[in-house]
Amino acid sequence: MPRPAGHPTIAEAFSALTDALGTTTPSCAGDDRFTCDDGPVEPLVTICKACPLLGPCRDVALAAYAGPIFGVVGGMVRRTSGKRSDLGRSS
Ligand code: SF4
Repeated sequence: MPRPAGHPTIAEAFSALTDALGTTTPSCAGDDRFTCDDGPVEPLVTICKACPLLGPCRDVALAAYAGPIFGVVGGMVRRTSGKRSDLGRSS
C-alpha cells in the first residue's frame, strides 16, 4: 500500500512515537482490554481519542499497516479481515 502524501515514513513515525513515549504515558497503558480479542471496541476508541499520543500512535498505525490484525490502535479499529474502520477519527 503506498504511503499517502504528507504522511511520515514508518521510520519517522516510530521515531516520533518513541520520543513521545519517553515523556508521556499512553492512555492504554495497563489496560488489558486493548489486548483482548473480544469485548466492545467503542470504549477503547473513546480512550484513544483522549490519549495524548493519539497523533503519533495513529501515524505508526497508518504507516505500518500491512496486513490482517485485530484491535484498537490510534483511535482506529482493525478487523481480522485486514479491513480497517475508523470509529473515532478526531480530525
Ligand atoms: S492512541 Fe495509541 S497509545 Fe493512545 S490509547 Fe490508543 S492505542 Fe494506546
